[in-house]
Order: sequence, then structure tokens, then C-alpha cells
Amino acid sequence: MANQEDQFKKVLSHAKEYGYVFQSSEIYDGLSAVYDYAQNGVELKKNIRDYWWKAMVQMHENIVGIDASILMHPTTWKASGHVDAFNDPLIDNKDSKKRYRADVLIEDYCAKIEAKINKEVDKAAKRFGEAFNKEEFLATNGRVVGYQEKINTILSRMGASLEKEDLPDVKALIEELEIADPLTGSRNWTEVKQFNLMFGTKLGASAETAMDLYLRPETAQGIFVNFLNVQKTGRMKIPFGIAQTGKAFRNEIVARQFIFRMREFEQMEMQFFVKPGTQKEWYDQWKATRLKWHLSLGMGAENYRFHDHDKLAHYADAAADIEFKFPFGFKELEGIHSRTDFDLKAHEEFSGKKLQYFDHEDNKSYTPYVVETSIGLDRMFLAVFSNSLQEEAIENGTSRTVLKLPAILAPYKAAILPLVKKDGLPEVARKIMDDLKWDFNVFYDEKDAVGKRYRRQDAAGTPFCITVDHQTLEDKSVTIRHRDTMEQKRVKITELKELIHAEVAVKNWLQRM
Ligand code: ATP
Repeated sequence: MANQEDQFKKVLSHAKEYGYVFQSSEIYDGLSAVYDYAQNGVELKKNIRDYWWKAMVQMHENIVGIDASILMHPTTWKASGHVDAFNDPLIDNKDSKKRYRADVLIEDYCAKIEAKINKEVDKAAKRFGEAFNKEEFLATNGRVVGYQEKINTILSRMGASLEKEDLPDVKALIEELEIADPLTGSRNWTEVKQFNLMFGTKLGASAETAMDLYLRPETAQGIFVNFLNVQKTGRMKIPFGIAQTGKAFRNEIVARQFIFRMREFEQMEMQFFVKPGTQKEWYDQWKATRLKWHLSLGMGAENYRFHDHDKLAHYADAAADIEFKFPFGFKELEGIHSRTDFDLKAHEEFSGKKLQYFDHEDNKSYTPYVVETSIGLDRMFLAVFSNSLQEEAIENGTSRTVLKLPAILAPYKAAILPLVKKDGLPEVARKIMDDLKWDFNVFYDEKDAVGKRYRRQDAAGTPFCITVDHQTLEDKSVTIRHRDTMEQKRVKITELKELIHAEVAVKNWLQRM
């Protein structure tokens, strides 16, 4: 645990020190759970967004994009169910005055039991060696089965109580499990209350005529209300998808995990419209396709897992999360939801406009079903950043900090470094820079010894360092050093473009899908 916390602290300080993420309004002591992306962070974020967009829109001729507004007609949120049901159960500790999500307290309690299961598994794996069969052990070991039953009983009771809005029972469960405030150990809790997560705002100048609006809590509704416009003007045939990236706002009750849970964040969503009855097939297909996208980045298959939902949202007939191993454990990174025809039907009802599709093959109209893939861009940023940050022992007994970002996502693809700041080397380096910058984001650095500059680029995540030295003046060759292997090769200046391109071409990455 301490190790995890240390690793997470390193992620936070590295993100600040290397210009990736700053706290918002830091000079005023910040705003809770709101962050700014800094000079390197904005590039990484853009590259993640582009990588998603290319995979989803450019590579699928039946998926198109839109960019809907953050402000929408307020009836949208009545129809979608957000006004009535976009709530989280909150509980306050009377002694510490700290506020928590009641469901998260209970889930964290279960995560501790799960940690005990994992410990038993590790112990047994050591004891049995090669002969160890994890599935069999999980199904037959008395202690482990007992732990698992306990988790199941707790979660299904919580699920049922939340479903029935039986908040006193959620509190009773917290008391029965003797869950204490994680910060102070106090068990002096208030009642559990529902709290709506939408931010309200006003449209219009005068107080009498102003209209109450919400900042959108998800981007999906901007797609639903535009469904027919896009279908007609794009002459889209079902099955087809509409993709969108953009800001969403949620007044989260507890937001203490850096950019994992923010009050203002960015989503990358795709709503895929299908013929009723085929949703299960598409749901399975999108689950597989999205996992492949993640795996294409090479961040380790063992760091991902699916979590199928037992308790479904009011609009869904199937739902799963892709969870990622963050520094604080496996948590949701992306959701894949089979949303039925709930949203389109609701918007038809509230707007009085038909939102149906005429299927020429079947010669009939119907309300399409929807399969959604929804990923938080900031969470993806955190996944990539925390997974890439490594401390590595190197040959001479020292260590280096290296940010092994997938090269396709790295803010700068190469740094151009004249060995010394004289003898005409900076001029040659500048020329190389001026040539490469048409194709790649490149960085120029001539300050300090070259070893120090390498370390700086390692820590900033730049995949290549190109060094111009005296030999360059003679034979137009440079050294190119690879961030991950630290290997240096002598190559011709004319070869550089192709070498870098091979490592950062989107085709080479996405084709691993
Ligand atoms: P959680 O259970 O963690 O609150 P959610 O199930 O409410 O998330 P969705 O409504 O399915 O999340 O949103 C889709 C995606 O948007 C999530 O998988 C996550 O990556 C991202 N996301 C949701 N809330 C936040 C937030 N407050 N900050 C950053 N990203 C978020």
C-alpha cells in the first residue's frame, strides 16, 4: 500500500515538474478537483484524443464526428433522466466533517477483502509452483470462497438498496460492517442523502427572464439530439456511429485522486446506432474492439480487465467497464454500455419529434438501439502517464527516471542537441530542426552537458535524442539515441525522417489492433 502511495506521489510531482499538469488557479491555492494541462500535458492529451479519433472515425467509414455545445436545452436533461436520477449517495462524518460517497466506502471495504483473496492466491501460487491452478483454487479454497461470498452478499445488498432508494439500509450496512472514516477512524455518520451531480447555470441577462441551464454532465446527449440531423445529412445507413470528444462537468462529492475524478473533464464518446435485436452482437464486438485499441499502445495486457455490471443504469440492458491498473489499483477507465432505445425514445417523448430511422431493406421505421463506448480522456492521460513513469537502474550503479510514453503519444518526438554551443554545431542542429518540424513536434536544447540533456528528455518522455557533433560537420551524420534502450546509432541526417516516422506512424500502432 505504502508503495502504491509513493508511486502515486511520484506521478503527481513528476506531472508538475515536467510541465504536464498544474493545479487550476494555483496562485489562489487551487480549486478542488480542477486541473490545467501544461505545455507538455496539452500535447499528450491532444495526441491521445487524435489516436482515439483516428481509430474510431477515420478508420470506420460508418462513423462520423460532431462537436455539440456544452450548453443544451434544459429539457434534454429531464428526458435523459439526469434531473431525476443523476445522483450519488453521500454521507458525512460528524466528527471529521468529511464527506464521502456511501457506495464508495462500501466498495473500498470490499476491495480490502479482495486484497486478502489476492494474498491467499499469491501464497498458494508460491507453495504449489508450476502445478498451481488459480481457477480451481478460487473455486475450492474454503477461506477464499468465504471471502468471495462476503463480497457478493455486501455488494448485492448495496445494489438492491440503492435501486430501491432505501438509503437508511445503505447507512445500516455501513454501520454493520463497522466502516470508519478512512482519515480519522470515526464511525459517527450522518444519514445517507442523494446528491445531484449536475452544475446549474443561467442563460439570459435579467433575473426574471433567465433560464436555468445545466453544464452537460456527459457528451452523449449532444449526439442523441442530433441523431436524425446527422443520419439525414450524412445519408447514414444503420449500423452507424457518431463520435464526439468534449468537456463534461460533474459536481463530484469526493474528488481526491488527481485527474482520475475531476469536476471538469473531457470525454471521448461514440454512440453506435443498430437495428433492435442486434445490440448484444454489437455490444460484444465493441467491447473487443475497444480493448484492442488499449492493447495497441503496448501498456501491458495484465493491466486491463473487464468488469461486467450487475447493477445496470436505468437506460442499459448490458454494461461493462474496461478497468486499468492505476497506481491506486484497478479502476474504471472506459465504459461500454448497451443503452437500448431509451434515450431516443425519451427525446421523442419530451420533444414531440419523431427520431426514427427508415430501414429500406426491411421497408419499415424503427427507433434504433444504441451501443455506447465512453472513455474519460483525463483518465486515459493518467493511465498512460502513470504506467510510463519508471525508475530504472542503469549500468554504472545509478538510476534514471524515464517516462516511457508510447512514442505515438509523446509530446515531442525528438530533441535536437548540438554537442557543444560552438564550432557551428548549433547552426547545423537548427537546420535539422527546421527540416524535421514540418513532420514532427521537435525540441531544441543546447544548455548543459549532453548527458544531462539526455536525462531531461528521458524524464520528459521524448523517444529520440539527435546529437550533432564535430563528425557531423565532416560526413553529415548524427547520433540518434533511443529513450528506452539508451542505444545510440550513427546515421545520416537524411535518414532521420524515416527512422522517426517508423516509430510514430499511426498505422504501425493501430495495426497492432
Ligand atoms: P465513475 O463510476 O468512476 O464515477 P461513471 O461510471 O460515472 O464513472 P460514466 O458516466 O460511464 O462514468 O462516464 C464515462 C467515462 O468518463 C468514465 O469511464 C470515465 O473514464 C470518465 N469520467 C467519468 N467521470 C469522471 C470524472 N469525474 N473525472 C474524470 N473522468 C470521468
